[in-house]
Formats: sequence, C-alpha cells, structure tokens
Amino acid sequence: MGRRLSAIFFDVDDTLYSTTEFASRARQNAVAAMVKQGLRLPVEVVRRELDEVISEFTSNYPNHFDKLLLRLPQVSWAGTNRALIIAAGIMSYHATKQELKPFPDVLPFFEEVSSKADVPLGIVTHGLEIKQAEKLLLLGVVPYLHPEAVFISDQVGISKPNPKLYSRACARLGLDPSEVMYCGDSPAHDIDPAASLGMITVRVRRDNRFAHQESTTPPTYDITSFDELIPMLREDFELALDA
Ligand SMILES: [Mg+2]
Repeated sequence: MGRRLSAIFFDVDDTLYSTTEFASRARQNAVAAMVKQGLRLPVEVVRRELDEVISEFTSNYPNHFDKLLLRLPQVSWAGTNRALIIAAGIMSYHATKQELKPFPDVLPFFEEVSSKADVPLGIVTHGLEIKQAEKLLLLGVVPYLHPEAVFISDQVGISKPNPKLYSRACARLGLDPSEVMYCGDSPAHDIDPAASLGMITVRVRRDNRFAHQESTTPPTYDITSFDELIPMLREDFELALDA
C-alpha cells in the first residue's frame, strides 16, 4: 500500500522559475533604458550601482531607481528631468516581467498531476503579497492550483523559515503535515522547516546559490527536475501518473 498524499505545496522563487536569471535580465534592461533616456554613464557603471542599491535596501524595497539616481553624479543627468529617467527604468523592469517563464519541467508536471491525480496543488512562498501573486499569474500555474491553497508570507503574517507558515497552510486545508509534500530549493528556508513538522520534503536542486548547500534534515526526495518526481509519486504514493 502506498503512503497517503493529501496535497503538494511548492516554493516559487528558484523552484518554479529562475529568479536569479530573471532579476539579472530585468536589471540590465532597466539600466539600458535609463541610459537611452538620457543618463550619461556607461551601462556597466549604472548596473553595478543598481546591484549595490538592491543588496543594501533588499529586493522588496519600493524605490530602487530613485536611490540609484541619488548615488550617481548629478552631472550625468543634468539637463533632463530625473523623473523621466527613473520612469524609463521602472517601465523597462516591469516590461521584462512579461517574459517570466517557468522552468521547462514545471507546467508538464502540474498538468500531469492535476489531470491524473486527486491531489490538490498549492503554494507556500516568501515575499510581498501582490508581487508573489503577479509571479504566479505570469508563470501560468494558477489554473492548476487549489484556489484556497496559495499562502504568501506577507499576507499570512508569518515569514520563512518559521515552520508556523507551513503548519498554517496545512491547517487551513485541514491536512495532516505528514501527508503533505513540500517542494523547494532552499535547504534552510524550505526543507528544514517543512521537515520539522514531519512533512514529506522534496529538495529541488536548481543551478543556483543553494546548489551545494545541504539541509540539516535530509529531504525525503532530492531531485533536479520535476520529471524525476513522477516515478516517485507513482511508486511511493500509487498515483496513476505516466512516466
Ligand atoms: Mg526559493
């Protein structure tokens, strides 16, 4: 008899899409747009300063581009209204979001599981409410999700890696954590807190800064792509999935 699986929850950033690659592309496009709008500095110089602003003020700070201009020599934008340069950067950053794409293994996995197994799919993500929701919409995963199974730390009021965020998600759906699977890329923010509640953990080892870090508690499954999870779900939980 297979183990019972009541739901599968997913992390978003660097699990469903490459946050690292997207952020780099969006910043580069933003900086290029500011230079095109009349900021008289080499793109590399502006990019380096923007990276510094984001690391000092965090990625969820709302006024990166204003700060960026404050830090650049005033002569580099003299003769033009600074708001036009800032707006050009913001517009280009947001336009890049339209290109947000999931990793190639993500949608086929969501499609396979949601069409063939009676296991609700959900999200437990760390970040700002609307920003994370926007990512889910752009990634095209929303149609596969249980409508009440999207948990965003900012909206719940509990941050990763607090295990309470995960127990809240299980409790909301009336599920026993030992029957719920959590898939994420971060050893410390995803695997350890979920494992501490007895959840079934799936370490999704993407090519990012965590690739060579290990969780304190070894994950139940360790994969590099969701394709590898299909046979495991079939064998260990008797889901009727195709290989
Ligand atoms: Mg992540």
